[in-house]
Amino acid sequence: MYKLIEGKKIADQVKAEIKQEVSDIREKGGKIPHLAAILVGHDGASETYVAYKQKDCSQVGIESTLFHYEDDLSEADLLAKIEEINRNEEIDGLIVQLPLPEHISEQKVIEHINPGKDVDGFHPVNVGRMVIGLPAYISATPAGILELIKRYKIDTVGKTCVIIGRSNIVGKPLSILLSQKKYPGNATVTVCHSRTKDLALTARNADIIVAALGQAEFLKSDMVKEGAVVFDVGITRVPSENTKSGWKLIGDVKFDEVAPKASFITPVPGGVGPMTRVALLKNTLLAAKKEIYS
Ligand code: NDP
Repeated sequence: MYKLIEGKKIADQVKAEIKQEVSDIREKGGKIPHLAAILVGHDGASETYVAYKQKDCSQVGIESTLFHYEDDLSEADLLAKIEEINRNEEIDGLIVQLPLPEHISEQKVIEHINPGKDVDGFHPVNVGRMVIGLPAYISATPAGILELIKRYKIDTVGKTCVIIGRSNIVGKPLSILLSQKKYPGNATVTVCHSRTKDLALTARNADIIVAALGQAEFLKSDMVKEGAVVFDVGITRVPSENTKSGWKLIGDVKFDEVAPKASFITPVPGGVGPMTRVALLKNTLLAAKKEIYS
C-alpha cells in the first residue's frame, strides 16, 4: 500500500511554523519580513500567481508590496525599479513574475536583482552557490520537494533517482540538490529530457522518480518499478464538467495506475504545488534574517 505525500498538509504545517517565527520577531520588535513582487502586464495566470503569493504572505504575517506596471514598461525603467528596490532597506525579498513581455530580457532582469534579495533563487550567483554547496536561495519547487523528502524521512542515500525535465527552475536544480553530498542527497541522479532514448527503461530502474515535464499523465505504471517514490510536479489544466471553474489540474503521472506500485507518491493537486508556494515564504524569512547573505 502506498503512502500519499500530503503536500497541502505539510505546507500548512510549514506555514504555521513561519507564522510563529514572524510573530516572535514582531514581539521582540524586530523587522517584519517584507516581500516585493513586480508584475508587468495583465497575463491572467501571472496575476493569479502573484495574488496567491500576496495572500500567502498575509496569512503568515509577512508584509508584501506589489509593483504592477503596464506591458509597455520599458526594459530600462524596469531595471531602474529593480535597482531602487535593491537599495530599499525596508524590502527583504524581490520577485519578478515571469514571463515578461517580449521586449524585456528575462535574463537581464534576473541578473539585476540583488542576489541577497533574490528569493526566487534564479540569479546566477544563487544558482552557482547552490551548485558548489554554499548557502543560497533555492528555487521554490526543488526546495519544496526537498522539504517533503525530509518531512517524510524518505531515504535518498545511494538511491537511483530519475528526473524527467531539465528546466532551470525545476529539473536542473533538483538534479544537483539530490546528488549533493548531504541529506537529502547522495542519490545517483539521471536527468531525462525530450531527447532521451528509451526513457521508460531508465525510469523503470529508478528508486525515486520526479516527473517535471508538463505532459499530462505521461508516467504510466509500466515505467515505474515496484516500491518507487514518485513526485509529480507537472500541472496541466484540462476542461472538466465536474468542477465549478470548468477545468481541473492533471499531473504528469497517471496516478491511478502508478500509485499501487509506488511506496510514496504526491497527488495533483495538493502535492508539490502547495510546497512550492510555501518555499517562497521560507526564503523571504531567510532574507529578512539575513541568514544567507549578511
Ligand atoms: P519546461 O517546459 O521549462 O521544461 C520541461 C522539460 O521537460 C524540458 O526539459 C523538456 O525537454 C522535458 N520534456 C518535455 N516533453 C518531454 C517528453 N515527452 N519526454 C521527456 N522529456 C520531456 O517546464 P517546467 O520545468 O517549467 O515545468 C514542468 C511542469 O511542471 C509544467 O507542467 C509546469 O506547469 C509544472 N510546474 C509545477 C510547479 C508546481 O508548483 N507544482 C512549479 C513549476 C512548474 P527539453 O529540455 O529537451 O525541451
